[in-house]
Amino acid sequence: FFIAVEGGDGAGKSTQVEALATWMRDKGHEVVVTREPGATAIGKRLRSILLDISSEGLSGRAEALLYAADRAEHVDSVVRPALERGAVVISDRYIDSSVAYQGAGRELSATEIARMSRWATSGLVPHLTVLLDISPETARERFTEAPDRLESESAEFHQRVRSGFLTLAAADPVRYLVVDAGQEAESVTTVVRHRLDLVLPL
Ligand code: C5P
Repeated sequence: FFIAVEGGDGAGKSTQVEALATWMRDKGHEVVVTREPGATAIGKRLRSILLDISSEGLSGRAEALLYAADRAEHVDSVVRPALERGAVVISDRYIDSSVAYQGAGRELSATEIARMSRWATSGLVPHLTVLLDISPETARERFTEAPDRLESESAEFHQRVRSGFLTLAAADPVRYLVVDAGQEAESVTTVVRHRLDLVLPL
């Protein structure tokens, strides 16, 4: 079972990923927690290129291709093998982040980004995508851990990213769970757990 957790910077993805993994492990599942970019050896190098080079230093299409390369390696060497042996995989970011950040955020074609992502993953789609939705303003107030990441892009950029995620979720209400990530972390976890109780085998 493959779960992707998506959302803008400061939405609390890593907190939720950890809480859900602990809960599912307690239920007896093998859980693999992973992330994009940077889950593999090559991915770590790509992540440092992507995060160290300012957006001015990298063309939007080059950026999109590097994220796709990270994802292809991630799917082949981590996600698919884990799913094949029956583990639950929880990925902190997946295809939707590319559609939202490089598509909506950088104003590249969302269709092209989605098509490239399908190729990069050989069409591997999560069973459930949890979108942690938060306004960029609330995220900025809460995100004290690495505010520079939020501040390195304009407010409009973050607004486009948020809309990009919401557009994806609206197109497929069955596969997406949109949660208001402005609430307490425990409340967010409870909402996601209820949904997983309905869909998870066991
Ligand atoms: O989720 P995490 O904090 O690890 O993401 C690292 C950074 O990479 C974030 O600041 C996010 O804005 C950026 N990112 C991006 N495009 C993606 C995925 C992440 O710009 N497809």
